[in-house]
Amino acid sequence: MKKKKLKKRIKVYGIIFFLLLLIVIGFNYSKLEIATDLNFNLNETVEKNDLVKKVKHGELLGKEESIDTSTLGEKNIPLQFKTIFGFKKTYKVTIQISDTEKPHISYNPIKNSKLNQEIDLTNGVSVSDNSNENIKVQVEGEYDIHKLGEYKLYYIAKDSSGNEAREEFTLNIVSDSSVSKNESYFTTSKGFQGVVRDGVTYIEDTLIVNKSYSLPSTFGNGLTNETLASFKELQAAALLDGLNIYIASGFRSYDRQVTLYDNYVKRDGKEKADTYSARPGYSEHQSGLTFDVNEVSDKFINTPEANWLSENCYKYGFILRYPNGKQDVTGFKYEAWHFRYVGKELAEKLYNNGDWLTIEEYFGIDSVYPD
Ligand SMILES: [Zn+2]
Repeated sequence: MKKKKLKKRIKVYGIIFFLLLLIVIGFNYSKLEIATDLNFNLNETVEKNDLVKKVKHGELLGKEESIDTSTLGEKNIPLQFKTIFGFKKTYKVTIQISDTEKPHISYNPIKNSKLNQEIDLTNGVSVSDNSNENIKVQVEGEYDIHKLGEYKLYYIAKDSSGNEAREEFTLNIVSDSSVSKNESYFTTSKGFQGVVRDGVTYIEDTLIVNKSYSLPSTFGNGLTNETLASFKELQAAALLDGLNIYIASGFRSYDRQVTLYDNYVKRDGKEKADTYSARPGYSEHQSGLTFDVNEVSDKFINTPEANWLSENCYKYGFILRYPNGKQDVTGFKYEAWHFRYVGKELAEKLYNNGDWLTIEEYFGIDSVYPD
């Protein structure tokens, strides 16, 4: 009799235990694992998805809903989760929004001013920031408008979170005649003479565009006649060797580059986009001296056309602008399809018997974005 009662009791407890176990397992089997880093930047694009490390056996509802990151501070975000058993759970997630991004200063790295003339160095300088606040730029450094010379000064812009951008620029106090031509001169690290004329940089008559030297937004209106004529010669020569080379992308205006670059940044982020697409004003395609040929992708590398171009383009005044292994120098990865007209004399020097030199190495200049 006693034995029977005990057995029954064990059975009941066993069932209760088993049910409890099921519930516990059920809850843990199907759950959200919240991300460990919940710090985001002001106005950063964040989706509910980004707050979760792992969705375990269930579904995060509204995972592509964006989260408002336009105000600083802590924020509670409810996440709705549907378990595999069909019931809903709400997770309260606290995120932190702060601003760690520096403002961006748009400025001309070289400014000219006439001797003895008062100058407003912040004129034409603009500041943008992810905080969308109105930031005034300040000038640091000493100069004397009554003395001819070259002064190294800084533009400084600080957002309300204390992030500071600091950009060096040169103020040239020059005589009347240089100012009227809107020219200023500089010397490269290899001793070449450079000139900035109406915002366009030339070294020994070669127009320079890279991450350090930009073009004014109004510059350019198509491939230059010299570039086109030389390309036709090159194209004809390639055809004799049985190869078809054509321009896939030639001149690109400043405005076109704005659209392109913005799209790439949206897709891949700024850091990645900067390795393959130029920022507006910094694209060589705006110069009218540059084009991409045939297949504008890594698939073009080592094709008969790419090899022919690398060995022969200099004969027509073109250079392989971004050679393999020179990313640290040019700021761009290897682009087997991107060619630049520089004229036969310089092209042959840069061809360097097949061991391509870059414009940056040859002239002794940098290619680094100002921020
Ligand atoms: Zn290109």
